[in-house]
Amino acid sequence: EKVAIHTASKNYPVYIGSDIMHLLSSCLEEYTKIMLITDETVSKLHLGTLIEQLPNLIVYTTPSGEKAKTFKIYEDCLSFALKNGLDRKSVILAFGGGAVGDLAGFVAATYMRGIPFIQIPTTILAHDSAVGGKVAINHPLGKNMVGAFYQPEMVIYDTNFLHSLPERQVRSGFAEVIKHGLIADPAFLQELMENLSSLNHLDNIQLAKYLKKGIEIKSSFVSKDEKETGIRAYLNFGHTLGHAIEAKAGFGELTHGESVMCGMVYALILSKHLLGLTFDIQSFINWIEKLDYKWRIPSSMEFNTLYELMKRDKKSTSGKPAFVLLEEIGKPTMFEVEKSLLEDTFYKLSE
Ligand code: NAD
Ligand code: ZN
Repeated sequence: EKVAIHTASKNYPVYIGSDIMHLLSSCLEEYTKIMLITDETVSKLHLGTLIEQLPNLIVYTTPSGEKAKTFKIYEDCLSFALKNGLDRKSVILAFGGGAVGDLAGFVAATYMRGIPFIQIPTTILAHDSAVGGKVAINHPLGKNMVGAFYQPEMVIYDTNFLHSLPERQVRSGFAEVIKHGLIADPAFLQELMENLSSLNHLDNIQLAKYLKKGIEIKSSFVSKDEKETGIRAYLNFGHTLGHAIEAKAGFGELTHGESVMCGMVYALILSKHLLGLTFDIQSFINWIEKLDYKWRIPSSMEFNTLYELMKRDKKSTSGKPAFVLLEEIGKPTMFEVEKSLLEDTFYKLSE
């Protein structure tokens, strides 16, 4: 399966399927050197299969998770690239989840003012992060505060790598697939709700189909608005509250996607109040409970703390928190919401 991504700055293919890594070797001949960036977890689980096919890889391994996205690691990657003699005709491969993709993409965007890079995502969440061209590292004062818009040469998404993902990572990534259905495609959402009753044991064919659809939806928003001035912001559905919850959660308590799921339920309820959304929210909640999502806001979180965080969200322009809301499934719109309604809705959803 293949999705063609079109943006103002570049067109590139996303290949999705099982056993498709052979597509990679044929594309690498034109490059002088190949540097692969991966993390410790992915390296242990899956690097062997890649090295068999590509014995000439120069491998840099980062710590797993957000620890990959620091200035220190970023600098270290650049030093490693320089010492290994990468030039402007070399390529960087990002082999891992969204964290490795963001780091490797930013290294590629800035090394010698930009060299080619290829995404080989290994998480479900990366169907989102590997498409769209946002790459970044974190600043001590804020997540993703240092970055660029930089598109890869291609994305090779082999579903075989996904079977080693821990259940929580599957749940985290799949929340974004569901988000893509909610903001853009009622038929896709309905298909998911009818056919998916558990996130365990997803087979390769199902996975590839759902991820492909998610990528098509994401890229349709991005291709119309590469640098996020308008409709790309709709991809932030569920993220105004989601980011606030994620920021307040203790380490390991809630993943990104789990937080976004709470945020999506919240935004659905606001949509019903403010825009008369007719979607059956209770059925949606019953379904996500079957998938083991928690959708209630954790009792440890206070409204005022979350409210302050929501006001700081970058979609907000007037000081009131801005939300992506739905007129209908597949019809998002931006809305600034009054504090009183946010507070009432918060108490409905709080544990
Ligand atoms: P991640 O890269 O941190 O991966 C999550 C965990 O799963 C890590 O511990 C990793 O080692 C492990 N892992 C990865 N692949 C595995 C596999 N196949 N089997 C077992 N374990 C595996 O995070 P993520 O959830 O993929 O992505 C989150 C990151 O993506 C965040 O840094 C976020 O800011 C970024 N992001 C970027 C964009 C974008 O548009 N650039 C969009 C969304 C998220
Ligand atoms: Zn997200």
